[in-house]
Amino acid sequence: MSEIHDVIIVGSGPAGYTAAIYTARAGFKPLVIAGAITAGGALMNTTEVENFPGFPEGVMGPDLMVKMQEQAEKFGATVMFEDVVSVELEGDVKTVTTEDETFSARTVILATGSQHRVLGLPGEETYGGRGVSYCATCDGFFFRDKPIVVVGGGDSAMEEANFLARFGSKVTVVHRRDQLRASKVMADRALANPKIEFAFNSAVVDMGGETSLETVTLRDTVTGEEKVIEANGLFVAIGHDPRVELVRDQLELRDNGYIKVAEPGTHTNLTGVFACGDVVDFTYRQAITAAASGCRAALDAQHYLESLND
Ligand code: NAP
Repeated sequence: MSEIHDVIIVGSGPAGYTAAIYTARAGFKPLVIAGAITAGGALMNTTEVENFPGFPEGVMGPDLMVKMQEQAEKFGATVMFEDVVSVELEGDVKTVTTEDETFSARTVILATGSQHRVLGLPGEETYGGRGVSYCATCDGFFFRDKPIVVVGGGDSAMEEANFLARFGSKVTVVHRRDQLRASKVMADRALANPKIEFAFNSAVVDMGGETSLETVTLRDTVTGEEKVIEANGLFVAIGHDPRVELVRDQLELRDNGYIKVAEPGTHTNLTGVFACGDVVDFTYRQAITAAASGCRAALDAQHYLESLND
């Protein structure tokens, strides 16, 4: 643990890698602890990204993340595919510990992103890996010519439904209200897809099946009426929560659980600790806004490091 790094970046989505590109180009040789399974962040589970500027033909999410990683490494970032198990963020020198090693740094940039929400039904455990999934890109292929349910009314649910319609015999989007939250373009695309049906004012309340998922029980959120529909796949796409478990006891969080930063900056309540991307942003949550906040975190860290020499 002898070396003190200038910058350690925890997380490797668009925010983390953009912070790495900027701090590397500023000569700080950042260490990116990218995560073991979650490396690359949410875009690793996305298909085509159509709204990231510079890619008029679209770009596959995983390809975009590999390019960001390569760009960071090209300028001198070191990327480690390990999970951080603990951090100590107080004081002038912070520590970041993985399963195997403890690293120290003058600044830490937190870009740990968010994780998918669960419905909280027992069936999610019972049929986990046997029908229930949180990632259409990962598991959609298993439901070729089978009926599929997608829960949620946001852009994620529309994206999942459109993707799954390529495989399933039909896709039923189950949404608890009568209006979608999704952006117009995403909603219109799903509404126009002949293989997608909508069950509005509906909630999944139960699941059934011998060894794998066969049925889903829907309850009308207005009348309380219940009905059972056939479904071999159930994709939960109801949003995300910030990944703050490492820092919950050390950093000031907002009431909604996201890390509090001194907007428009990325400074947390602890000196030398910056946060960016979906662990901060509960409003925009786009790859491009995450990348932009990673840039701001890098510049904030750079200014802080330069101030140490004044
Ligand atoms: P979201 O916008 O927060 O939508 C979550 C949806 O799930 C809402 O419709 C919500 O219902 C529903 N929901 C939440 N908790 C639920 C529960 N316990 N049971 C049943 N339904 C529940 O989340 P998101 O769709 O993941 O999108 C997050 C952000 O990422 C957005 O800014 C979105 O634009 C962005 N995104 C963009 C793209 C793209 O542009 N390609 C793709 C995916 C996501 P209510 O509407 O009733 O609250």
